[in-house]
Amino acid sequence: MKVGILALQGAVREHRNMLHRLGAQTVDVLNPQDLRGVSGLILPGGESTTVGKLMLRYGLLTPIAEAGRAGLPIFGTCTGLILLAKHINNSSQHTLALMDASVERNAFGRQQASFEADMPIPVLGGKPFHAIFIRAPYIEKVGSGVTVLLRHDEKILFARQGNLLAAAFHPELTDDTRIHEYFLSFIIEN
Ligand code: GLN
Repeated sequence: MKVGILALQGAVREHRNMLHRLGAQTVDVLNPQDLRGVSGLILPGGESTTVGKLMLRYGLLTPIAEAGRAGLPIFGTCTGLILLAKHINNSSQHTLALMDASVERNAFGRQQASFEADMPIPVLGGKPFHAIFIRAPYIEKVGSGVTVLLRHDEKILFARQGNLLAAAFHPELTDDTRIHEYFLSFIIEN
C-alpha cells in the first residue's frame, strides 16, 4: 500500500516515519502526478492559508478534492483538518471543502497556544491518547454524516466522515501509532 503525504509544508517527515513503522510505503506529494497510485493521503500540519495557496498554485486543490469525493481515504492533522473542512469561521481561505464541518482556527487561548493532554478516545480502545496541540483549530459543528471521535469542552477534536479523518492535534509527534493504524484500516477496507 502506498500512501501520499502532502509535502508542501509542515510535519511531513514525522508522518512518513510513522507510516514506515507500520509497513506502508509513502510518496511525497508535490504535484498532481504524485497522486497516481496512492491509496490514501495525509495532509500534515503547517499553516493552512499558506498550504491552501500552494495547493492552488501547484494544481493540487482540485485533483485532491475530486479524489476525496471519489472515496480516497484522506487524513488531515491540524492544518490538514482545516483544509478538509467545508467552512472556516471568518475566513475565505482555500480548502478542499470535503468534510461537513465548521472550523474555528487558532481557537485555544494564548496560554494554550500549545499544550498536551491525555485524551480518552473510545474508537482506539485501551489507554488515553497523548494529544499534542500546536496553535490548534477545533471543529465547532458537524453535519449528520460526521462521527465525532473526540469531544472535549464542547470542542470537537477528532472526527470521521466516511473516508475522511480529521484530528486537531498531532499524533505523528508521539510514539503512539494507533491513529495512523486506524487511518490505514480505512485503506484496507476501501
Ligand atoms: N494554526 C495553524 C493554521 O491555522 C495550524 C497549526 C498546525 O497545523 N499545527 O493553519
